[in-house]
Amino acid sequence: MRDPRYDILFEPLRIGPVTAPNRFYQVPHCNGGGYRDPSAAAEMRGIKAEGGWGVIFTEQCEMHHTSEITPFIELRLWEDKDIPGLARMAGKMKSHGALAGIQLAYSGVNGPNFYTREVPRAVSPMPIRTFTNEPLHARGMDKSEIADLRRWFVTAAKRSKQAGFDLICLYGAHGFGIFQHFLSRATNQRDDEYGGSLENRSRFAREVVADIRDAVGDTMGLTLRVSLDETIGELGFSNAELRDFIEMNAELPDLWDLAHGTWHDCSGPSRFTDEAAQETLVRGIKALTTRPVVGVGRFTSPDVMARMIRSGTLDAIGCARPSIADPFLPRKIGEGRVEDIRECIGCNICITGDMTMSLSRCTQNPTFMEEWRKGWHPERMNAKGPSERVLVVGAGPAGLEATRALAERGYDVALAEAGRELGGRVARERLLPGLAAWGRVADYRAYQIGQKPNVETCFDSALDAESILEFGFEHICIATGATWRRDGVARQHVVPMKADPGMPVFTPDDLMAGARPEGRVVIYDDDHYYMGGVLAELLAREGFEVSIVTPSAYLSDWTVNTLEQHAIHRRLAGLGVEIVLNRGVVEIGAGRVVTNCTYTDTLTPMDCDAVVMVASRVETDEVYRDLRARQADWADAGVKSVKIIGDAEAPGPIAWATYAGHRYARELDEAPPGDALPFRREITGLAEA
Ligand code: ADP
Ligand code: SF4
Repeated sequence: MRDPRYDILFEPLRIGPVTAPNRFYQVPHCNGGGYRDPSAAAEMRGIKAEGGWGVIFTEQCEMHHTSEITPFIELRLWEDKDIPGLARMAGKMKSHGALAGIQLAYSGVNGPNFYTREVPRAVSPMPIRTFTNEPLHARGMDKSEIADLRRWFVTAAKRSKQAGFDLICLYGAHGFGIFQHFLSRATNQRDDEYGGSLENRSRFAREVVADIRDAVGDTMGLTLRVSLDETIGELGFSNAELRDFIEMNAELPDLWDLAHGTWHDCSGPSRFTDEAAQETLVRGIKALTTRPVVGVGRFTSPDVMARMIRSGTLDAIGCARPSIADPFLPRKIGEGRVEDIRECIGCNICITGDMTMSLSRCTQNPTFMEEWRKGWHPERMNAKGPSERVLVVGAGPAGLEATRALAERGYDVALAEAGRELGGRVARERLLPGLAAWGRVADYRAYQIGQKPNVETCFDSALDAESILEFGFEHICIATGATWRRDGVARQHVVPMKADPGMPVFTPDDLMAGARPEGRVVIYDDDHYYMGGVLAELLAREGFEVSIVTPSAYLSDWTVNTLEQHAIHRRLAGLGVEIVLNRGVVEIGAGRVVTNCTYTDTLTPMDCDAVVMVASRVETDEVYRDLRARQADWADAGVKSVKIIGDAEAPGPIAWATYAGHRYARELDEAPPGDALPFRREITGLAEA
C-alpha cells in the first residue's frame, strides 16, 4: 500500500473552476508526432491517464495560422476542422479522471511561417529567433493587430472548449510564446502602452486572460506558463522581474506554471542538470500569490516530490520527461511500488524526435509513441506464444530489455553474459563524467529481472555457436553489442586511416576499461554524438593536455538534438580543452597527426603523444554468423529461430537497443508481418479534387 509520506501527492488541487484529482501534473511536451500523427499522440496521452496523472497537457498547439513554428511538428488549431483530432486527444486524457489541458501557442518572433507563408508578426520587429537562424524578419504588430490577436485567442479558447479540454495553458516560456515576448525587454521594445514599464509589458497577458475568462472561464481553468528566468542577462525577463510580475498580477491565471530559461535550460540533460535544479529559482514564489504554483525539474523521486509540496515550494509536480519514461509513475507511487518506477535518465533522446521532426522515442520506455502504432502498452505485454525457452546472449540494454519483456510475457529465459555484471555498454558508460544517471537503464531492468522466477542469469558465460547449440533452447536472441574501431573508419574515412604503428591509439573501450595515454592527447571525433566530448572531459579532468579535432563545424554536433551541444562546448572550453573544428585527421604519424581543413584540404600537423579514436563501432556478431553458418544443425538442437538485435545488429544510441530488445520480446511467436508495414499510420485525408 501507499507510503503515507506520499499522501500529500494525492490531494486534489483546485484550478479555477476545475479540480485535479492529484498533484501529478504532466506539463506540455512535444513528441514529434503532432498534427501528422494525431492518433499516436492521443493514445500516448491516454496511457498517461491510465498511469494516474491528474493533469495531462498537449504539446504546444499553434492557435492561429499567422504563426507556425515550422519545421517542427506540433499541433494546430487553425480552423474548426482541427477540432476532431484534438477532441480525440482530450477524450483520451480524461478517460481516467485527469484534467485535459491544451497549450495555446502564438510563436511570434519564433515562428518563421514556412508553411503558411504569412508574414510573421511579433511584439517588436526583429529577425526570427529559433535554433536555425532563419533568414527572415518578423514585423512588429500595430495596435489593431494586437486586437486581432486577442480575438484569435478567444476563438482558439472556444474551440478548445468545444474539443473538450478543461484547462488552457497560455505559453510564454523557453523564449517561445508571445506572452514571454511581451514580458521581456529583449523582445518588447515598444514605446506604447504595451512596452516600457513592467506594468505595460504585462498588459497583453492581462487582456488575454480577461478575454478568455469572459469567454470560457466559467468551465475552464487558465494557466500561464512563464520562465523562471530568461537567462539572457540584464535585458531579459529575470527571476527578480518574474517575481515582480507575479506580485503585480498575483491572481491573474488560475495557476502559475513555471518553466525555465530556454528549452535547453528547462530540459537540461542529466549530464549538466540535476533533479529539482530550479528549486532556488522557484522557492518563495508561492508566497506572492494565492494561486497554485507548478514547477518542473526532472522529478523522478517521490521523496523529492513530496518535499517540494510539504516545504511550500510547489503545489503540483510538473513532469514531462519523467512521465515519458514512466507513464505509470503516479500509480506506482500510489500502489506502494516505488521500486518499479522506470526513472528517466535525462539523456534527451525524446527531444531528438521533435528536433528531427520524426517521432520521439525514449531510452527507458521503448513503448513511447508506439502505444497506438503498434499497440504496445508500457506495463502490459502481449500473451505468451507456444514456445517455452529462450536464450538471450549478452546483458547490455538490448539483452536486458529482451529478457525483462520476455519474462513478463511468461517465457523461461536464460540470460548469458560474458562478463560479471549487467548493463553492457551502460555499465561502462555510467562511470564517465556526467553519465551516472544512465545507469538506471541497467538498474531498472536488473531489479525487474531479479523479481522474476522464470529468468536465470549466468555470468562469465562467453558463449560460442557450439555451446549454444548444445543447450537446446527454442529461440536464440543474440545481443552481443559492438566495439569501437581503432582504424579511424567512420565518415571521413571509409577505409582505414594511414597510421604509424609507433603512435599509441586508444579507443573509447580502452579508456573505459581503465587504460590511459601519456602526454599530449588528440581526440579525433568523427562520431559526433556525446562520446568524443565526454572523453575529452574525462582526460582534461585527469590533468591531460587535450585537443579534440572534428571535421564538423560544431563540437559533438548531433547533440544539438539533445539540447546540450552548447553546454558541452562551454564545459570543454572551461576545462581548457583545445577545440579544433572543421578539421579532420588524414594521417597518424610518429609524434603527430596531420589534420586537413574540411573546406580547403589545407594540411596542418599537430604534435601529440597519443590519439583517442572516436570514429565508428563494429558489431560483435561472430557468434551470430557462426550460428547462421550452422543452420543445418538447428533442427537437431531444437532451435527454431536465431535473431540478432541491438548494437550487435547495427550500433546506435542506447534507445535503439532497448527498443530492439522490446520488439524482439513482443514479436516472438507472433505471425511475421511479411512485406506489410509493421505499424499503423495515418495519412492526410484527401479533399475533393
Ligand atoms: P547492446 O547495446 O546492443 O545491448 P552492449 O554492448 O551494451 O550491447 O552489450 C552487449 C553485452 O553482450 C556485453 O555485456 C558483452 O559482455 C556481452 N557479450 C558479448 N559477446 C558475448 C558472448 N559471446 N556471450 C555472452 N555475452 C556476450
Ligand atoms: Fe528521459 Fe531519456 Fe526517456 Fe527522454 S528519452 S524521457 S530523457 S530517459
